[in-house]
Amino acid sequence: MQSPWDLPDFDDHEVVHFVDDRETGLKAIIAVHSTHLGPGAGGTRFWHYPNRGDAVADSLRLSRGMSYKNAMAGLALGGGKAVIVADEARTKSPELFAAFGRAVEGLCGKYVTAEDVGVTVPDLVEVSKHTSYVSGLPVAAGAVGGDPGPHTSYGVYLGVRAAVRRALGKQSLQGLHLAIQGAGSVAGGLARLAAKDGARITVTDIDTSRAQKLANEVGGSVVAPGDIMTLEADVFSPNALGAILTAQSIAALRVAIVAGGANNQLATPAEGDLIHQRGILYAPDYVINAGGIINVASEYLKDADEAGVKAKIEQIPDRLDAIWAESDATGRNPAAVADGMARRLIGRA
Ligand code: NAD
Repeated sequence: MQSPWDLPDFDDHEVVHFVDDRETGLKAIIAVHSTHLGPGAGGTRFWHYPNRGDAVADSLRLSRGMSYKNAMAGLALGGGKAVIVADEARTKSPELFAAFGRAVEGLCGKYVTAEDVGVTVPDLVEVSKHTSYVSGLPVAAGAVGGDPGPHTSYGVYLGVRAAVRRALGKQSLQGLHLAIQGAGSVAGGLARLAAKDGARITVTDIDTSRAQKLANEVGGSVVAPGDIMTLEADVFSPNALGAILTAQSIAALRVAIVAGGANNQLATPAEGDLIHQRGILYAPDYVINAGGIINVASEYLKDADEAGVKAKIEQIPDRLDAIWAESDATGRNPAAVADGMARRLIGRA
C-alpha cells in the first residue's frame, strides 16, 4: 500500500489531520502545508468524493496552493485547507459543522479556516461557535472584511494595468480592448474600473442576461461564451472558471496579455510554458487575484484598516513586475517563477 508520504501531492506538509467523528458522521481532512509565515490559512471545501483518495489529494494540493498564495500576497499567514467529505446527498447539519469546529480548535491555531466551495457563511458561523480560528465571518458595515469580490477586482484591475505597461508600453487602458470571461463579482468590478479608464469591453457569461446587463453598464458588447477566447483584443481576462488555458485554447488566443482573477487558470503546469512560448504575457492567477484574501486576512489578523488593505492590494503590480523581470532574466515562464518565489518565501527554495 502507498504510504501518505509517497503520494504525488505530498510536499512535506506539516500536518495532515484525519477526522472521523462517529457521533455526527463527520469525515474530514485538515492539511497544513506550511506555518513558516504564520498559521496555515485556507478555506474548507464541502464536497462529495466518490474516491476518498481524491479528497486527500485535494487537501494536499489546495493547502500547498494556499501557502504560495498567502506568501505572495505578503501576508503573515501560512497555507492550509480542509476538506469535509460529504455523502452523495451532500447532507449538512449544524452538528456536523460543530464537530468540524472542535477539530479545528484541536489544532490550537495551526489552521485557520474560511469559506470554500460548498461552505456558506451560516455554516462558518456554526463552526465559529466551537473555535476562534475562523475568518470570513459577517462583519459590521464599513468594517474591514465582508465581500472579498470588490477587493479582488481592484487587484486584478491594477494587475491588468501593470501587464499593459510591460507588454504594450502604455500607461493607461484608454482605447485598449479587454475581452472578459465572466460577468460576476470579480469581472463586474474589473469591467467598471477599466471602462472608467476608457477601455473597450467585450464580455461573455453563460448567464446571457448577466453579460448583457454588464455590457450595457460599461458601454461594451457581448459575445457567446465559446467566442471570448478567440477574440482579437489586447487583453484576455478570465474571471469565471479554472483550467481554461489548455494547449488548444492557448494556440487560438489573439491577445498580447492574459490577466484575470479566476483561480487555477492553467489546465496543468505545462500550459505555463505554452503561453510563454507564444509570447503572451501571463499574470499568475494567485498573485493577481490576491485582493480578496488580503482583505479577509486583515479582518482575521486585525492588522490593517480599509486604507491599509488598499495599500497592500496596491503592491500586487510590483509583485507581478518582479515575476516578469525574473522570467525575462531566466527564460522560465511566469507561473513557474511565481511558484519558485513563493517557495523561497516559505523557506523551501
Ligand atoms: P461569480 O460567481 O460572481 O461569477 C462567476 C461568473 O462566471 C458567473 O456569472 C457565471 O455564470 C460565469 N460563468 C460560469 N461558467 C462560465 C463559462 N463557461 N463561460 C462564461 N462565464 C461563465 O464569481 P466571482 O466571485 O466573480 O469569481 C470568479 C472567479 O474568480 C472564480 O474562478 C473564483 O474562484 C475567482 N476568485 C474570486 C475571488 C473573489 O473574491 N470573489 C477571489 C479570488 C479568485
